[in-house]
Amino acid sequence: MQFIDLNKQYALIEDELRSAFDAIFSHKRFIMGPEIEQLESDLQKYTGVSNVISCSSGTDALVMPLLAYALSKTDAVFVPSFTFFASAESITLAGGTPVFVDCNEDTYNMSLESLENAIARTIKKGELTPRGIIPVDLFGLPADYDGIRKIADEYGLFILADSAQGLGGTYKGKKTGQFGNACATSFFPAKPLGCYGDGGAIFTDDDDLAEVLRSLRVHGQGVDKYDNVRIGLNGRMDSFQAAVLISKLKIFDAELEKRNKIARMYTDNLKGVIKTPVVPDGYTSTWAQYTLTAASGGQRDKIMEALKQKDIPTAVYYRIPIHLCSAYAHLGYQQGSLPVCEDLSKKVFSVPMNPYLTEQEVLSVCEAIKGAIK
Ligand SMILES: *Cc1c(COP(=O)(O)O)cnc(C)c1O
Repeated sequence: MQFIDLNKQYALIEDELRSAFDAIFSHKRFIMGPEIEQLESDLQKYTGVSNVISCSSGTDALVMPLLAYALSKTDAVFVPSFTFFASAESITLAGGTPVFVDCNEDTYNMSLESLENAIARTIKKGELTPRGIIPVDLFGLPADYDGIRKIADEYGLFILADSAQGLGGTYKGKKTGQFGNACATSFFPAKPLGCYGDGGAIFTDDDDLAEVLRSLRVHGQGVDKYDNVRIGLNGRMDSFQAAVLISKLKIFDAELEKRNKIARMYTDNLKGVIKTPVVPDGYTSTWAQYTLTAASGGQRDKIMEALKQKDIPTAVYYRIPIHLCSAYAHLGYQQGSLPVCEDLSKKVFSVPMNPYLTEQEVLSVCEAIKGAIK
């Protein structure tokens, strides 16, 4: 069994991809070819967001809006600690300082209570100025965007949504991409919508911000291409990656439906056996990961070993919360600073999830987990 199986999907799109690649070999516009415009327009229709800026990776999709906000070292951006490193790294790369926030043990997403406490503590300490919030749609479940918007407005903060895992999810009937002042996603191959290399995109309804982002994407270019008006980066997506995404976007909703069916099957079979992921009313997940919480670290190791014996791959996202990573040791967080995510990092593990898993395979994973627990 494969953790993420790209073979079956490839078989579905192979013919279309080969002719799309042939077209690129003919026109040879490898950078900013016509596929880029097509993809941005397709994604605009898909999300309903008025500006889509494709780019080189999910990380750059986070970095560019943060560069647009012109952060300085004394600017605080609040970010959950229980996420992929790039959610926080982007803040540092753009010149700001991350302030880490704990998560909810049921949804794995940022805790609003912990967020409010972190903002209050930061203001009281007086060393950093609160500037923004990066909510993360962890494992594909959208963050609580209404709750976060309320807090952001109270303190005058921007919201940059990290939907690297969450593109295609919904919150109160609205698609991800629509939340926050801007939203970043990733098309890394293992994400629910992945290309065949690195890629990302930024979504925003703010036309002025979009114009700055398009400039930042190409070295801060101005109207005169050789008069650069700001410091930017080489942040473009290439035409081949756009062609892959144009094809995959056509089958994406059907794949999301299958992911949700598989997640329901896991939950139905594992409820009462082990703690299953919670999707609150009004949310739909993309199931970038199906993540279970064991009763203890020891139980997790036992289950993962039992599954390995049966050739069932598992993975731990995330074994070390970011506030305890060596790169951020200088910020002075200790064990116990953010107890919920520290506890989860010892107990969570993810099981195979992709739209092409068979019912048989899902049931065999569930049986193996039940066998390891009893
Ligand atoms: C994958 C991921 C990123 C970074 O995306 P890349 O395309 O790998 O640069 C950022 N945030 C989260 C939550 C991710 O899962």
